Amino acid sequence: MSTSTAQYPAIEFLVDGRWIGTAERESAPVENPATRAEIGAVPLAVEADIDAALAAADREFVPWRDTSPHRRVAILMRAADLLRERRADIATAMTLENGKPYGDSLGEVDYTADIIDSLATEAPRRFGAVLPVGADEGRTIVVSEAIGPIAAFAPWNYPLTVPGRKVAAALAAGCTVIIKAAEETPASAVALARALTDAGLPDGVLSLLFGDPAQISERLISSRVIRKVSFTGSIGVGKHLATLAGAVAKPTMLELGGHAPVIVFDDVDIDAVARESLGSKIHNSGQSCGSPTRFYLHESIHDAFVARYAELLEQVRIGDGFDPATEMGPLANARRYAAMQPLVDDAIARGAGLAAGGHGDDSTGYFYRPTLLTRVPDDALTMTDEPFGPIASTTTFTDEDEVVERANSLPYGLAAYVFTADATRALRLPRRLDVGMVSVNRFGVGARDTFFGGRKESGYGSEGGPEAVEEYLVKKLIAQA
Ligand code: NAD
Repeated sequence: MSTSTAQYPAIEFLVDGRWIGTAERESAPVENPATRAEIGAVPLAVEADIDAALAAADREFVPWRDTSPHRRVAILMRAADLLRERRADIATAMTLENGKPYGDSLGEVDYTADIIDSLATEAPRRFGAVLPVGADEGRTIVVSEAIGPIAAFAPWNYPLTVPGRKVAAALAAGCTVIIKAAEETPASAVALARALTDAGLPDGVLSLLFGDPAQISERLISSRVIRKVSFTGSIGVGKHLATLAGAVAKPTMLELGGHAPVIVFDDVDIDAVARESLGSKIHNSGQSCGSPTRFYLHESIHDAFVARYAELLEQVRIGDGFDPATEMGPLANARRYAAMQPLVDDAIARGAGLAAGGHGDDSTGYFYRPTLLTRVPDDALTMTDEPFGPIASTTTFTDEDEVVERANSLPYGLAAYVFTADATRALRLPRRLDVGMVSVNRFGVGARDTFFGGRKESGYGSEGGPEAVEEYLVKKLIAQA
């Protein structure tokens, strides 16, 4: 397959069991970031659609909440199987709309299906508590109940996994959901909604909207129907939505990205760490909340690591995601592409070295070379602002206390990585890092069955594991004579 032969599907949004397309609503173009060609159109919901989605989420909440958890599990697991059956078509659409290599898109479909299975099977195990009381004191129990209809907002970087996590956890808990997915990558979210409806999800339990993000979020969050808000995206938008929710006393769950430190001590195999760092850095063109971004290298290994890492980064084949030789695709949109060069120029102006990349090429698509900036001052923008692109910055340290303080110094607190051969240090460092997730001697955070979330301005709550289902439950005390 190639970009020229791959088919992008017609996009519709879903309100109360009805699919609404571009013949009925105004639309916005969908672009292939590898070619900048218009590949499709996304219909934009109007206020009446938002209100219809709210009415359906309200109407269906009690019936869905009161559906046997095992029936909910069966529907979710059937939907996961449908995603697996449709993986080739979904991955094709994902690569077209997001740019990631086709193999990575297939991997995202498979991973999302596995996550849905995992979250579904957590639901029947959300046990309550029976309090120990005296023989004449009746019975006191605490139960978990679905919190109510959910408003969810998902971005474009993992266009299937992020909506999949949110929707599966909330549906498993017994909540109805209205999700606004990214207008830039709508086909992946549509595939998720289709799999769920084809699996037997009743009409109105899930609605999927595209449109004006501010209009949709304000209307949903201010509605009395919505009981919790779940958002993944930028810190700025996350704070804004939390403020809207706070004004009406609604809880939020926020996953707002990170700026992950990578602390490399002087006792490691430099070549092995450089190789590990390569795959992690170029994955999703660096547009991952857990992407390694700030490399704190022990002074004694800095230059050797940089030489090897730069060599590997320079060899990366960037190109169209359908080319089997491609290791890294384009950035997902014009905004991310435009954000890269100012970050690089700022670091160089402040005295950083440039060991790899440092430039883009948008003549065909939003391609930016994997970039390694060296000995970057702590106040450079690449060290303080999440790059969300294929840029890595290095700096040096000699003392553990000092590097921990610098790693913890930013408002971000999502992921961190430590590389050391010292077993005691490998135990100590994760305790000292003020983040939600730490990996030692490996990259990658979050497995399909576990907690996934951050601290500080990276957000709060979990997108994975039993905790993700708990996000959509509330406790109730029942005391009986
Ligand atoms: P952005 O702030 O414009 O938008 C982020 C997401 O929020 C998008 O999906 C957008 O549609 C949505 N959004 C924007 N305004 C909204 C509103 N008023 N109500 C509801 N949703 C709204 O940023 P962007 O240019 O799309 O992405 C750039 C930055 O976002 C990155 O630098 C990165 O920090 C962050 N980001 C983080 C993640 C993550 O996984 N945590 C994912 C995508 C983007």
